[in-house]
Amino acid sequence: FETVTVVGAGLAGCECALQLAKRGVRVRLVEQRPLKSSPAHHTDGMAELVCSNSLKSTRRDSAAGLLKAELELMGSELLECAKRASVPAGGALAVDRERFSELVGKRIASEPLIEVVREEVTSIPEGRSVIAAGPLCSDALASSLASLIGAESLSFFDAAAPIVDAETIDRSIVFSQSRYEEQGVGDYLNCPMDKSEYETFMEALLGADRVVAREFEQKDLFCACQPVEEVARTGMDAARYGAMKPVGLTDPRTGRRPWAVVQLRPENAECTAYNLVGFQTNLTWPEQKRVFRLIPGLENAEFFRYGVMHRNSFVDAPRVLDDTFAIPGTKTRLAGQICGTEGYTEAIASGLLAALNTFADVSGVAHASLPRTGALGSLVAYATSPATSPYQPMHVNFGIVPPLESPRLKKRERYARYADRALQDLTAYVSSRDDLFG
Ligand code: FAD
Repeated sequence: FETVTVVGAGLAGCECALQLAKRGVRVRLVEQRPLKSSPAHHTDGMAELVCSNSLKSTRRDSAAGLLKAELELMGSELLECAKRASVPAGGALAVDRERFSELVGKRIASEPLIEVVREEVTSIPEGRSVIAAGPLCSDALASSLASLIGAESLSFFDAAAPIVDAETIDRSIVFSQSRYEEQGVGDYLNCPMDKSEYETFMEALLGADRVVAREFEQKDLFCACQPVEEVARTGMDAARYGAMKPVGLTDPRTGRRPWAVVQLRPENAECTAYNLVGFQTNLTWPEQKRVFRLIPGLENAEFFRYGVMHRNSFVDAPRVLDDTFAIPGTKTRLAGQICGTEGYTEAIASGLLAALNTFADVSGVAHASLPRTGALGSLVAYATSPATSPYQPMHVNFGIVPPLESPRLKKRERYARYADRALQDLTAYVSSRDDLFG
């Protein structure tokens, strides 16, 4: 088989490289770090998670959980590493990010068919390639890509939540409980607020200084990852119905449900650091310290990392890519967030899919045509359908799967049926494609 260049040793690139190597394809995996880095990456490790450490739900009757089940069926390498690096997170798969990256690195190093090259790729490589340079693709490569596809690369903001030192959290106020679990059970810590604490906090949040966004970034604010102060701006109670919702939680000090809650999720297996769930923000760092210290239990919190805002680039997939995410008429395929699939697990999935389709190209077998009923199949269909206009990044969700024939089911039952149907179809597909999965 011809050698494939994979650009970017992130989530999509690492999965893609490993899947190609497993199928006997030689890979040149080119990563720009540590020579050059993005504003969000901090290490030179493979598959670095740039923000939250959660790969979302593992419940099979959620779209994120279904995607994981599908990845498992298809033999995902990075999902396996994530499971081995997992930390307690209720019904979600969260990982110790350093261990995860280390496991992926070791897995790559163990593959003799993968050569890792540390350099910035500044133009689309000659020969067969998979571009998995992520939402923070370097400028030179982004402009080379833009001139190849003749379409605009769009930029918008994503936002990262702050991380606090566990030792500086006041445990006499903050309590441990996952929603709807018993007191003391669960992996989340909760900072409870009464009505007046909530209102004081909201006023401070709304009055705080923010980092001034550049003009092009302001208009492209990413809706699925709104900064907490933007949510607050839409109404006094908006946060209380979003990230700060108190449902399913009881404050042991009062025996009652708090007015609002800030949830803290462990960052690592040792639970030495916690992130403020849903608190991605554009406040300046001194203001984050002042305002977030108004949260009960965080009065003396020390911040390991402040929230930050980032650029995020993706192509207009429905108009510039074919249904295998390849650029028609070229030997180049895209994978990961740069295609506009949104989310860690989605990036892993699209890396796996890029490997299947690239393997099909080099071996002459048919491309992967995943069942439309699946979480991944429906995401691919969404992202490559000309009807999707204008195109905005999308994570897996049951809103884009084909409806069931019996639509009158309750939500949970409907979701469970979606999952059953998807896994049945995918199992049949995988066993019918020994040439791809065998
Ligand atoms: P990455 O994982 O970013 O990998 C791309 C790799 O390509 C990087 O290692 C980069 O160094 C390298 N690279 C770039 N340009 C070049 C070049 N020219 N030459 C060589 N190498 C290059 N998703 C979630 O599910 N949860 C989150 O909490 C979350 N937070 C995010 C926060 C931020 C700030 C951003 C930007 C995105 C976030 N996302 C999140 C979205 C997305 O899931 C992640 O960005 C994910 O890492 C995308 O995977 P990827 O493989 O496409 O890109």
